[in-house]
This record gives sequence, C-alpha cells and structure tokens, in this order.
Amino acid sequence: MPTLFVGHGNPMNAILDNQWTRGWTEMARTIRKPKSILMLSAHWYLPGSYTTANHDPKTIHDFGGFAQALFDVQYRAPGNPGLANRVSAMLSHCDSQPRSDWGLDHGTWSVLCKMYPEADVPVIQLSIDARATFEQHLKIGRTLAPLRDEGILIMGSGNLVHNLRSALHQMRANDQSVPNWARHFDDEASRALKQGDNDFLAEAPTTEEGRMCHPSPDHYIPLLYAAGAADSNDPVSFPVEGFELGLSMRCVRFG
Ligand code: ZN
Repeated sequence: MPTLFVGHGNPMNAILDNQWTRGWTEMARTIRKPKSILMLSAHWYLPGSYTTANHDPKTIHDFGGFAQALFDVQYRAPGNPGLANRVSAMLSHCDSQPRSDWGLDHGTWSVLCKMYPEADVPVIQLSIDARATFEQHLKIGRTLAPLRDEGILIMGSGNLVHNLRSALHQMRANDQSVPNWARHFDDEASRALKQGDNDFLAEAPTTEEGRMCHPSPDHYIPLLYAAGAADSNDPVSFPVEGFELGLSMRCVRFG
C-alpha cells in the first residue's frame, strides 16, 4: 500500500464537485482497494494518543456556520476495533488507548466520501498527540509502516499550508492570490518530500515562515505520519496541487 497525505481545505468540499474532489476520486482509483484505512486527521489533535475502536463510528460534524446539506452528510463506513486495538498496542510506549466515544471527523469523511463513496472500507482514526515533537510524529509513522504490507492505507488529512486567519481575510476580500510565504513554504516542503528529507520536514514548521504557514501545527502534522510510514525507496508524487484562499491543497503519495 502507498501512504497518502491529503489537503482537505474547506469542509464544503464534501458536497461540492471541483478540481480538488475530482483529484481525490481519481487518486483512489489508482490505488488497490485497501482492507482498512488508518486516518490521522488534523481535527483530532489533543494531548493523548487514542484510536477509535467503535464498530460503527458516527459521523462527527465538528464545525459551525455551514450549509445544512453539510450537516446532513453521513459517512457510514464500518470501524475496525481489532485494528484499533492493535494500533494502540503498537504504540503502547506512547500510552495509546482505544476509545469508543469518538467517530470520524470531517478531516476524515469530507475526503473519504469522495475517495470511497460506497463507504465500504473500514476506517479507524488515530489521534494526533499534541504533546509529541515533530520528530516523534515521524517516528510513530515509522512504527506503523508494517501495516502497509497488510493492505492498510495509512493516510494523513490536513493542509501543507494552513493559516485560517489569512484564508478568512482573503475570503472576505474575494482574493485568490497566493501569498509569497505560502508559495515558498509549499515549494520547499515539496522539494524535501521528493528528496526524502525528513529532517527538513520536522524542522520546517518551527521556522518563522513555518509558523506563518501553521500558527497551529495540527494541519501539518498528518503529513509527518504519511512521510514517516514511507520507505526511502517509495516514489513520491503529488496527485493534487494548487491553492485555495492561500491554503495549499497539495496531496502527497508515497509509493
Ligand atoms: Zn481542517
């Protein structure tokens, strides 16, 4: 199995048909159907390592102020409690615990409803432990890499550039330009991804430009799981590229 990072952007993409969503659909077509998906979503970022161990994870609408049609979306993919328990066991050194009070948040379902609209692939989420360093997130990705050989798709969902304040400002001004700092960060990260330069990826969000692109690192860290679970022999490609309101929508495929 390859590993993936998807730029999810606006939650409304779940009910829109546009260049991003068509790119996600196409991306899924080029990958053998996974047995299960292990998702790292920017929207389950908290101090602690948890997996979703529900048989039937609920669709969580973790946002406000959007169209009712978005709140009506239900993505009823089954869970995989066995896999959730195993992933927590693999991360016992992080004190990872399975729990059943979370479901699939929009970082997960807004993308998967375009990739696997039949909702027939079991999905679990692993939380992003906000206490871990960037190097540790890479290392957790590496720990999970053997799951790829079992047909499990390890996938991160965030955005390679994500400054929400700036995006809202651009939205109000109807401004679709790409700020220089956003373009530069996206270019540099792409170069590092192509070169397998994980040291650069761990360092990038700590620089002044990195903090501009990620005032909070939640949308960046999912990339580190996909990169950490990749092998140095995996080819790196970008099935989707581009910006929306200064957010990088780039998707990354390893392998
Ligand atoms: Zn998001």
